[in-house]
Amino acid sequence: MSPSPPNRLTITQIAQAYAQGRLAPQDVLDALSEEIAVREGEIHAYINGAAMGSDPSGTLRRRQRGLTPEQGQEESLGPLRGVPVAIKDNICVEGEEITCASKILKGFISPYHATVIEKLLAAGALIYGRTNMDEFAFGPSCETSCYGPTKNPRDLGRVPGGSSGGSAAAVAAHTAIAALGSDTGGSIRQPASFCGVVGVKPTYGRVSRYGLIAFASSLDQIGPITKDVRDAAVLLRVIAGHDPKDSTSADVPVPDYAGFLDRDIRGMKIGLPKEYFAAGASSQVMETMAYARTQLARLGAELVEISLPHTAYVVNAYYIIAPSEASSNLARFDGVRFGFRDESAKTLLQMYEDSRGRGFGAEVKRRIILGTYSLSSGYYDAYYLRAMKVRTKIKEDFDKAFQKVDALLTPTAPTAAFRLGEKVEDPLQMYLSDVYTISANLAGIPAISLPGGITPEGLPIGIQFLAKPFDEGNLFRLAHAFEQSTDFHRRLGNVAS
Ligand code: GLN
Repeated sequence: MSPSPPNRLTITQIAQAYAQGRLAPQDVLDALSEEIAVREGEIHAYINGAAMGSDPSGTLRRRQRGLTPEQGQEESLGPLRGVPVAIKDNICVEGEEITCASKILKGFISPYHATVIEKLLAAGALIYGRTNMDEFAFGPSCETSCYGPTKNPRDLGRVPGGSSGGSAAAVAAHTAIAALGSDTGGSIRQPASFCGVVGVKPTYGRVSRYGLIAFASSLDQIGPITKDVRDAAVLLRVIAGHDPKDSTSADVPVPDYAGFLDRDIRGMKIGLPKEYFAAGASSQVMETMAYARTQLARLGAELVEISLPHTAYVVNAYYIIAPSEASSNLARFDGVRFGFRDESAKTLLQMYEDSRGRGFGAEVKRRIILGTYSLSSGYYDAYYLRAMKVRTKIKEDFDKAFQKVDALLTPTAPTAAFRLGEKVEDPLQMYLSDVYTISANLAGIPAISLPGGITPEGLPIGIQFLAKPFDEGNLFRLAHAFEQSTDFHRRLGNVAS
């Protein structure tokens, strides 16, 4: 069997090959460039996609600025030495343009590194290309980017999911080894499900948000998107941990997640929330769930039906809370301090109106209006405050469930990847596609999506595990046991068989 090209390897395989002197970082970068030359034109996972030229990832440029370790020097560095990691376009890399895929931020240069970037660099990673996303991370399809949509590498007529669609598509297409995304209501897990890769939304406070452009500050988390579960465990360990620069970051020690991977799952209690298995998901998703239950039982887990009674209110609460926080966070983009400004305006007010009117896309405006309305006097109690009370109830549902079980199993999304353009005219349909992922953000708990099935047309379907706060270790344990007992990651080509 001929060896896999280096871009098809996992982080773990690359680290091994480096240690044995079989591979050098430049080989990995060259292989990625070759794959990008073939596939990026049709997928458009990177925002600098079409015009990438001879330095597709910007890695050479970064090397000149000391942002990547020199060859050879990686040896003395950490667990990601010489591993390129792609970065969603809402995470700051000092000295580089950051746009959140919005016209309003065009030309804005990050003044500092996000904490996750500092941590990646300290671990020896190479900061790779910037990935496409829904504008300001609002959306589940990656179609609202000002750069145009990303396509799903499994079927170019379909969306890759969103908002971290570029990150998931690049990892699935082997034009990235691994990537960072952000997840406010499912934006790591749903694209991971649609593209057939692994995505983790860590516990709220587990990973620093310093240097992440805020969408909804009480929900946002940065997390890994990778080819397999082991890589996700390795990458999360690097980026997690307390950060005094983020007041919401938790001072909780970070375990060695890889140490959880080879523990068996015999006797683990897994809850099946009955509300998530009621009608609503496609028959293919339901078949995937039935298969997952059988498989987990075979591995010795105990499956029990539980109830999360407030599930029916999850989407409603989220679509009040997230736009409210977003309307406040996005108020700073007023044409004065950041990015795009309408220079032709005659008055200050006109400058604000024109800059925001021309800088923001339709979905961003829709959410700012929704959020501003929910927060306005007279409506605050009826909408925002009420939604926050519902959020508490949703969280209590999970607290109760975790008194009985160690983890929960649910679908990640109601369907496999939908067609490009299928839902753009219908925001409500878009919002409903987040029904299974949002609750983890509202409750602040960790969740992972990994491949659990493949439709007859070859589209991946993800399954989701959820756990108690800061119990990512057990998520990895479960996900790894399931992954290793199935062959989806191999059939999808994530890992060479
Ligand atoms: N799809 C959800 C939304 O549209 C989640 C987005 C996210 O997690 N950033 O808000």
